[in-house]
Amino acid sequence: MKTIDAFDKQFATEEFCRAFLAKARWPKQVECPRCHGTQKIYKLKARPYHWVCKNACCGGRNGYRFSILTGTIFQDTKIPLKIWFKIGYLMLIAKKGISALQMHRVIFGEDSGSDYHTTWYMCHRWRSAMKGEAIQLTGEVEVDETFIGGREKNKHKSRRIGGSGTTGKVAVIGAIARKGMVLAKVIENTDTQTLNQFVRQTVSEHVSLVATDEHSGYRHLKKDGYPHETVKHGKGEYVRGLVHTSNLDSFWSLFKRGIMGSFHHVSKEYLPLYLNEFSYRHNNRKNPEVFLDLLTTCGK
Ligand SMILES: [Zn+2]
Repeated sequence: MKTIDAFDKQFATEEFCRAFLAKARWPKQVECPRCHGTQKIYKLKARPYHWVCKNACCGGRNGYRFSILTGTIFQDTKIPLKIWFKIGYLMLIAKKGISALQMHRVIFGEDSGSDYHTTWYMCHRWRSAMKGEAIQLTGEVEVDETFIGGREKNKHKSRRIGGSGTTGKVAVIGAIARKGMVLAKVIENTDTQTLNQFVRQTVSEHVSLVATDEHSGYRHLKKDGYPHETVKHGKGEYVRGLVHTSNLDSFWSLFKRGIMGSFHHVSKEYLPLYLNEFSYRHNNRKNPEVFLDLLTTCGK
């Protein structure tokens, strides 16, 4: 990926940003955001990057007017796309995450009159665009759940799971393919049904290994046909040959450090957005076209 200076040079004008967005959204033909038609769509000559759709379901002759921003995370914005893009790009290159406050300082400087909440909002809009693909992991896969929040982050994991230690915390679960992608989500609880369902959704039946800890919620995986092996964290066993969850452990610790260090307080409502962000960065760590790809999913 480019340095931020190179990025600034490339995305120097609103015109360039709009043209770039148009190419990302509609590489072949302009598509109506309402009816998804590509026929009977006409450029509005007097207004660049505006079109009218005259398909019957969009009002026929009177038509439905839309712009390059309609139906995207930028809709109705008063902020220049240049600033939006820079925020999105900074989020992609910040390996450990970047708080809205830091972001605000980078973009607007220390003593500007601009509103910090606008920056915070823009960061969240980008996170919502960073939704992952619905794929199933293959190869060697690690699955583990953890809890986010509270002040017990230094306690050993086995003491935190279950019982009163989890009060006020939010459970999240993740699956990571070694050298591959990570998929993570917030879960309501860590019962067997919830854990099983997550594995079935995210892990292909054709994996060579599913490694977890000894949580009883995973006990049906073998019977269900998965090549499931466990390490007994409670007995101090963390690695047994290929059986370990250290890739996912690293992802969780990066995620938790990012949230604790930069974000201070994350409510349950926003946790899925932060999971989006950290997963998206991980999953695109070798993708040189990640910004372009992100723009293709910026529709709401
Ligand atoms: Zn239409």
